[in-house]
This record gives sequence, C-alpha cells and structure tokens, in this order.
Amino acid sequence: MAYLPDDLPLPRTDEIDTAAWWEKIANNEFVVQQCDDCGIYRNPPAPLCNECLSFNHHLEPVPNATGKIYSYTICYHPVHAALRDWPPYNVAIIELDDVSQGTGLGGVRFVGNIIDAEHEDLYVGMPVKQTFEERGGVNLVQWLKA
Ligand SMILES: [Zn+2]
Repeated sequence: MAYLPDDLPLPRTDEIDTAAWWEKIANNEFVVQQCDDCGIYRNPPAPLCNECLSFNHHLEPVPNATGKIYSYTICYHPVHAALRDWPPYNVAIIELDDVSQGTGLGGVRFVGNIIDAEHEDLYVGMPVKQTFEERGGVNLVQWLKA
C-alpha cells in the first residue's frame, strides 16, 4: 500500500520541462538537473539556469541519494476527498547532501513524504535516504529514515 491513497491526484509527467526527468524516475533512476555551464543543480527541472542563465543542462544520476529534513509538517485536515478517511500524514522538504544548488544556497530540495516514520520520529535535520514509491501508476520520489 502506498503512503497516500491511489486516488489522490498525481503530478503531471508529460510537461515539456519535466517529462525527461519523470521518464528517468519511472525507470527507478534518481536524477537531478545540472547546468552544463556553471555546474549547479536545480529542482524542479527548468529550461534556464537561475545562476548563469544558460539553457544547457542534463540530468545527472544521483544514486543512493541522502539528505536531511529541511522542514516538515503533519497534515490532519483532509485537503482532498481521497484523504477523508486517511490517517494524518507527513509532508517534508528534503535538502540533498552533496548536490548543491549554488554557493551558499545549500543542497537541492525535494518535497515528499517520509514513508517509514512515525510522526514523533521526525525532526528538522533528520537524515533520510531516497527511495521510489509507485502510486496510481506513477513512480514517485519518496524518503526513508537513514
Ligand atoms: Zn548555470
């Protein structure tokens, strides 16, 4: 069973700026977009580098990615009908280790769920590791306690 219900709306995987990234994720390859000219990473994938304004980029594999909880919340209010009878769940911002988004800006960040943690386990700075979770036919980037 997935961390969240299958009938919760899923992200679009066919948009021009992110389709290539979703294709890698569908194949269980965790990748982060990297600028070919200045080398910084960014998420979500975008056509233009915020640092040097280059349009040149590629998807860099980041196997065995780890990070830390940058921030999180526990959601009690059902924001969608699919969550009406669902237990409270966490939503976290993860800051990757060793994948910088530019000088002084820290690691690239992802939004997801810590799918193996109790609410009382969570804290800002908690180490996590990347995993994949299939929900409703889409592979999602998710996180486990490290
Ligand atoms: Zn750049």
